[in-house]
Amino acid sequence: PLPEGRSPSEEYAARLAVQSSAQEKYYEEPMQMERGWRHHLVDTDGRSYVDLVNNVAGLGHSHPGVRDAASRQLGLLNTNSRFLYRELGEYAQRLADLAPEGLDTVLFVNSGSEAVDLALKLARAASGRPEVAALREAYHGWTAGADAVTTSAYDSPHALESLPGWVKVLDVPHPLRGAYTGDDAGARYAADAAAALAGWADTGTPVGAFICESVLGNAGGVLLPEDYLAGVYEAVRAQGGLCIADEVQVGFGRMGSHFWGFELQGVTPDLITIAKPMGNGFPIGAVITRREIAEALGREGMFFSSAGGSPLSCAVGQAVLDAMEAEDLQGNAQRVGERLRAGLQGLVAKHRLASMVHGAGLYLGLELVRDERTLEPAAAETAAICERLRELGVIVQPTSERQNVLKIKPPLCLDEASADFAVAQIDRVLSEGW
Ligand code: PMP
Repeated sequence: PLPEGRSPSEEYAARLAVQSSAQEKYYEEPMQMERGWRHHLVDTDGRSYVDLVNNVAGLGHSHPGVRDAASRQLGLLNTNSRFLYRELGEYAQRLADLAPEGLDTVLFVNSGSEAVDLALKLARAASGRPEVAALREAYHGWTAGADAVTTSAYDSPHALESLPGWVKVLDVPHPLRGAYTGDDAGARYAADAAAALAGWADTGTPVGAFICESVLGNAGGVLLPEDYLAGVYEAVRAQGGLCIADEVQVGFGRMGSHFWGFELQGVTPDLITIAKPMGNGFPIGAVITRREIAEALGREGMFFSSAGGSPLSCAVGQAVLDAMEAEDLQGNAQRVGERLRAGLQGLVAKHRLASMVHGAGLYLGLELVRDERTLEPAAAETAAICERLRELGVIVQPTSERQNVLKIKPPLCLDEASADFAVAQIDRVLSEGW
């Protein structure tokens, strides 16, 4: 038994007393969590929940392999990467082996935001140009560079009015709401993007980089239309720019069919950003890129992250990769993801509010609209549905700039029984007369 603590409301009051209102909480009255195991969380009242939101705990909560690796390394050595030790070289090589050929150089940081900032810095150094193109509705992190290329009106309401001059924004190729929805949508969006890129080049500001999530995670797991990235990458490269795939949310086995999100589009980026699931909750981030791009950074000065690539984070990172392989979590993402997707698709057929299932593998989104014709986002309903699902033992949260998508990105160990349970509860709640 754990020692008696504060009640959830006391804990909440204690949090509010020391935090900014910008630091959001889940739920109107958040529950207090006590423990996690695999894809379950248990609160201090002893209630257990199926966790559909913790993509950081990719292996599942409280994984013994990670616990053992961290505690072993903490008792042995933990220092900065200016010292030589075995763990960094080993882990970096494993990551490079997972990346497409040619992306052989790994730089370690501690979070997704840092990885994005570093990728921007690298791309600007290698291309010699400061301008960066990003998609509308994107979230890439909170640090200065990552925040600048964050264009989601929800995450950053003033983002578009106060865009720094170096950020150029491209239309989001959304399959439900976008300008193009037919089979040629990807090519048409890519042609528009190429025209915009050419326009910036004509006015003397060709972009040095293009950054994009390979599946639009923060929009709700929105799959890019076929051929989109191939077209945009080609246009960016034709002007001497580099392509950054932000795989912080959607990469690392979550797609099931592929390890990387960009593989769904059949492209190879110049830089890959990764973080969240790398450490299963331990803070690790990285950029994987080509050697000449990484070398360009050296011309600007040195690069050093005090804890990035430490023996501890590399030991944890390797334990995560070991477990992913031993437990075939990518395979599980595919199998259970397909079952979950089919279940959600059944809800689209059955319920007025449920409009479209986005995503692949275990990154899925159920978009809720009030009217199929106008596509009016059912934001208030989505929030209320999440509150109600909590009562029924399922943790799921709203996402997208319109906050009308149920975002489903559970630990990759989610099993079929829990996937079925989650679908049954969503079905039940959607039947409650919205
Ligand atoms: N990129 C993407 C696509 C993200 O979703 C996030 C976090 N939600 C980040 C970067 C930033 O990661 P972190 O919170 O680890 O800084």
